[in-house]
Amino acid sequence: MTYHPHAGRYQQMEYRRSGRSGLKLPAISLGLWHNFGDNTRVDNSRELLRHAFDRGITHFDLANNYGPPPGSAEENFGRILREDFRPYRDELVISTKAGYTMWDGPYGDWGSRKYLISSLDQSLKRMGLEYVDIFYHHRPDPDTPLEETMRALDQVVRQGKALYAAISNYPADRAAEAIAILRDLGTPCLIHQPRYSMFERGPENGLLETLGDNGVGCIAFSPLAGGVLTDRYLQGIPEDSRVASGSKFLREDQLTDEKMEKVRRLNEIAQQRGQKLAQMALAWTLRDARVTSVLIGASKTAQIDDAVEMLANRHFTIAELSAIEGALL
Ligand code: NDP
Repeated sequence: MTYHPHAGRYQQMEYRRSGRSGLKLPAISLGLWHNFGDNTRVDNSRELLRHAFDRGITHFDLANNYGPPPGSAEENFGRILREDFRPYRDELVISTKAGYTMWDGPYGDWGSRKYLISSLDQSLKRMGLEYVDIFYHHRPDPDTPLEETMRALDQVVRQGKALYAAISNYPADRAAEAIAILRDLGTPCLIHQPRYSMFERGPENGLLETLGDNGVGCIAFSPLAGGVLTDRYLQGIPEDSRVASGSKFLREDQLTDEKMEKVRRLNEIAQQRGQKLAQMALAWTLRDARVTSVLIGASKTAQIDDAVEMLANRHFTIAELSAIEGALL
């Protein structure tokens, strides 16, 4: 059936400027790491994308290796884009990345110019796009000169294959260097994508400050810690959950008693605020004005609804913030 997006989609979402750039991102963005590969029915993936866009989520985040198998998330997204979203391309911000293992041999991994440029060409083909809005270097490469990697990002922007350049998983000091190189090249770094949640506080140790000082945005990935910072695992492991799927990224042994005790305490605070833990976790990650967007994953449309409905209750009292710190001890 032809897709007609919801006419009121722009009324419900907040759009936040990425650093000091001209680009605004939705406060909630949708990532395609899980639930878009060949192991998911394409109709489920389609429903998630349609629902997200209907609720004002204009930013979809991909990477060359998302699947499984690697590349299939981009292929499936490309198909849905062609069939459903073609008239809305200019209302979308689509990102992809290269930096992790993608193909065999020395040219399909890390941060060489050779890898980044050929990988983006492959991504564009898989998605059927002429350009992506944001192209990321996915992780720092200890062996390739940073100058080479950043020059590759600058080149794809100049060629019009990407509109903006970005980095992900860079620690504060390497991020500062990358940002300075890109600025000198005349292609400012749009945004950094670190892991950030109540359970992953790394960006508070200098990274957010570096980004804020340099006018670079921040999009926090896994703000729900893959689903742990929700009520999903409070009564055991549901059959349709990420843990039950056998994901190597979220295993049962990571749900320790100590962690689940924290989740229970956080869940009580969320209940006192009149919201779900997932909503409180997202609101908490967005509490810092330097965080442009929270990048969620979803296996069901109701999870997208939870995220969007969080926006109606996203501010914290000082007492609530200190109760959260206490629960995390
Ligand atoms: P989240 O921390 O948001 O976890 C998403 C999972 O949490 C969902 O798949 C779902 O799991 C569960 N969930 C979501 N909403 C709810 C809810 N309301 N109630 C209960 N459970 C809920 O993020 P991800 O780890 O999925 O990562 C998000 C995106 O970040 C990725 O798609 C990718 O784009 C990006 N990313 C980037 C990385 C990088 O290196 N740059 C690395 C990792 C991610 P379930 O399946 O159990 O329902």
